[in-house]
Amino acid sequence: MQQLNVQYYRNRAYQKKKSLAAFLKKLTRKPPKDLLKQVKAADKEVWQEISCIACANCCKTMTPTWNKNEIKKVAAFVKMDYQAYYDKYITVDEDNGDLVNKSTPCQHLDLKTNLCKVYEVRPKDCKHFPHFIRKDFTDQTQVYTENLHRCPATLLLIEKLKKSVESGS
Ligand code: SF4
Ligand code: SF4
Repeated sequence: MQQLNVQYYRNRAYQKKKSLAAFLKKLTRKPPKDLLKQVKAADKEVWQEISCIACANCCKTMTPTWNKNEIKKVAAFVKMDYQAYYDKYITVDEDNGDLVNKSTPCQHLDLKTNLCKVYEVRPKDCKHFPHFIRKDFTDQTQVYTENLHRCPATLLLIEKLKKSVESGS
């Protein structure tokens, strides 16, 4: 599969960050009544244009937030003892106390194929990333703003949503 040019999307995100961040702020203050419907329509279009297997930038540069149960499951999947797995791969984020990966890329990313080697038991955070279809969409706008340059799908979604909300459709 042809790799996605992540750098291209990153540059595009930096160029548009100011206007997209302003749009998201405004959206948080005054969302249209049919926001979720518009998010769903934009989301559908995004996944026709973007393939995560051609990208994997989140697994390469970010970390999921783990809970202990998820660590237990993945440790068992890779035939490791919970404590050994924790000591080798997990740390506590000093800012918020979250359990996160010690390093990037994620220890479970196959760098040749961009596939997750623990896909069946990956943490919930990975399953749902980039978290578009949710009732509390406007509570997440700060996260979307931060992810504009990290996740091409987030950039595309917010661009499409801006177009759709501003045209009143
Ligand atoms: S979720 Fe975003 S960053 Fe992750 S692989 Fe898909 S497009 Fe890339
Ligand atoms: S567990 Fe899998 S999906 Fe989650 S960050 Fe690691 S490689 Fe990516």
